[in-house]
Amino acid sequence: MEDLRSTCCVVGGGPAGVMLGYLLARAGVSVTVLEKHKDFFRDFRGDTVHPSTMQLLKELGLLGDFLQQPHQKVETVGGVYGGYAFRLGDLRKLRVDTPYIALMPQWDFLNFLSSKARVFPEFSLRTEHEVTGLIERDGRVRGVVVRTPSGEQRIEADLVVACDGRHSLMRKDAGLPLKDLGVPIDVLWFRLSKKENDPVKAVMANINYGKMLILIDRQEYFQAGLIIRKGGFQALQQQGLDNFRASLRQVVPHLGDRADEIRDWDQVKLLTVQVNRLLKWWRPGLLCIGDAAHAMSPVGGVGINLAIQDAVAAANVLAGALRAGQNTDALLGRVQRRRTFPVRAIQRMQVTVHRGLATIFRHTGPMRAPRLLKVVVHLPGVKRLLARVVGMGVRREHVRTPDVHRA
Ligand SMILES: Cc1cc2nc3c(=O)[nH]c(=O)nc-3n(C[C@H](O)[C@H](O)[C@H](O)COP(=O)(O)OP(=O)(O)OC[C@H]3O[C@@H](n4cnc5c(N)ncnc54)[C@H](O)[C@@H]3O)c2cc1C
Repeated sequence: MEDLRSTCCVVGGGPAGVMLGYLLARAGVSVTVLEKHKDFFRDFRGDTVHPSTMQLLKELGLLGDFLQQPHQKVETVGGVYGGYAFRLGDLRKLRVDTPYIALMPQWDFLNFLSSKARVFPEFSLRTEHEVTGLIERDGRVRGVVVRTPSGEQRIEADLVVACDGRHSLMRKDAGLPLKDLGVPIDVLWFRLSKKENDPVKAVMANINYGKMLILIDRQEYFQAGLIIRKGGFQALQQQGLDNFRASLRQVVPHLGDRADEIRDWDQVKLLTVQVNRLLKWWRPGLLCIGDAAHAMSPVGGVGINLAIQDAVAAANVLAGALRAGQNTDALLGRVQRRRTFPVRAIQRMQVTVHRGLATIFRHTGPMRAPRLLKVVVHLPGVKRLLARVVGMGVRREHVRTPDVHRA
């Protein structure tokens, strides 16, 4: 196949890659986004679009159209700990246009964003294009090698941005050093049906009998997430499905016979939770952002939003130089410096929450909510603070890149 050239080559069409592609193309930079899958339709992989992301969509003039897409609003996050019902976060007081989390399947969000990006002639999304390696010359990354349905192809670029997620091949190929923060939990995701009189509101964490089951109300069904000990899935499978179903009923009794809907382990997807970050996000010619630079825990549901903020920061720093055809190597460290603080701050919070979650596993019988929880949820400002950190993030980014197509 013929070799291709693009000013910027983005590896991976997840939230980070599609947003970066959109912003660069909008700023007049020729950009090729390579996605190994045929489309965006995958298993459940996080559906939370936070107010910080919606504010960015507003800055881009896309919020109105985004809100036309089917979504659900989550205004509060709470739970039931051993029979004690509490509310931990309340987003309604955030001073933004959309003081709630919008639950929207990730593929819908990516289809929406890529449809907006396609309007720009500089944007190209190539699906079924799997990057298999980097092209390097004279100590600099010069492009990527791609496996396509029609054969292997080489794409040369002034800059390659790795947005290929937490199993990033690009960062491995580039030999970038990774710091793993260690996690004591994994999550099992599955679906359960809903009943009209279910007492579940939006997102609820249910804790009892040494277990935690998160129920996310998706209107037609519950997306359920059972927190388990790290590496504990195999042992759970060996104990059998009856035992698994019984433990669901134990922690959320009103599920009743709906636990029997899990008839096969194939219905249960293991999320191996990781929290890690690159010590160096770049090499000459290559930058990593999103999960490729820092895998986040599902705690707080912030992975998508951090990936988007990374993309905005990267575009802000790099778009002008890329458009002018300048070498961007000296700018790549600026992206890392800008984004390291929010990543570290959020990861530290997640690690602290994990420690608390790991103590749940010590229990076997009925549990009582700790006094500290009862005090904390009544402290003025706590719900607002948590809502602020989760909803708006730390060190918010704003779009600084121009729309060169606007007359
Ligand atoms: C089960 C699950 C639940 C989650 N829940 C939430 C949640 O509720 N809220 C939240 O904010 N986050 C959640 N996350 C995390 C969130 O999905 C990620 O943080 C976010 O998607 C990261 O975006 P990204 O663009 O950096 O990477 P990804 O979304 O991982 O995108 C990477 C893309 O690169 C593609 N790719 C990979 N390798 C190659 C290659 N070699 N060539 C070409 N393409 C390639 C992949 O197919 C993928 O499309 C969850 C994750 C999982 C797995």
